Amino acid sequence: MQLFQNRERVEEIRKRLLEKFPNSKTELRYETNFQLLVSVVLSAQCTDKRVNLITPHLFKKFPTPEKLSKASLDEVQNLISSCNLFQNKSKYLISLSKKLLEDFDGVVPLDAKALQTLSGVGQKTANVVLIENGENLMAVDTHVFRVSHRLGLAFSKSATATEKELSETFVTDLAQLHQAMVLFGRYICKAKNPECENCFLKEICESSDKSI
Ligand code: SF4
Repeated sequence: MQLFQNRERVEEIRKRLLEKFPNSKTELRYETNFQLLVSVVLSAQCTDKRVNLITPHLFKKFPTPEKLSKASLDEVQNLISSCNLFQNKSKYLISLSKKLLEDFDGVVPLDAKALQTLSGVGQKTANVVLIENGENLMAVDTHVFRVSHRLGLAFSKSATATEKELSETFVTDLAQLHQAMVLFGRYICKAKNPECENCFLKEICESSDKSI
């Protein structure tokens, strides 16, 4: 990890990201924390857009852990078959619903360690659920990983280590910065053909034009 970050530059990036994406929220559509958890599990290696096409049908039939815990694997697989890794995810969803009923009275625990005892829930998924519930946390998905490395805010090779770097660098506003970097990566600093020419961070980005 590079220990030195130019503080002024970091603060300028923070300011511009928060100004450009004020009060941003996840683009996943959900009504309850259970539905949020299911949506975030489904979103692994799948776009939010795709997840939002799947979940209305899934939640209509199985809106609660009680209902989803009693679903057959075939039923769930059929409903989420357009999602990447749908076979594993179907097993996770039924299993996590059962565990929520057995260990947490059917309520999604708002605690990182407890969340990670559920099938299909790793650190990033747990953090995204907690972020949506107002916690000051960073979560590193593919967009946050790419953006933070291009901007020279993180240097680690893993998502977990990158999360630590970003948390130590920014300290506050972590949830808002997470949401902002997701949207910034999705619509401007894209994996292919990032829009450097029109980017609001162009002159302070370490990768401007080099990443194209
Ligand atoms: S200048 Fe280009 S590489 Fe740098 S943050 Fe903006 S879009 Fe991404």
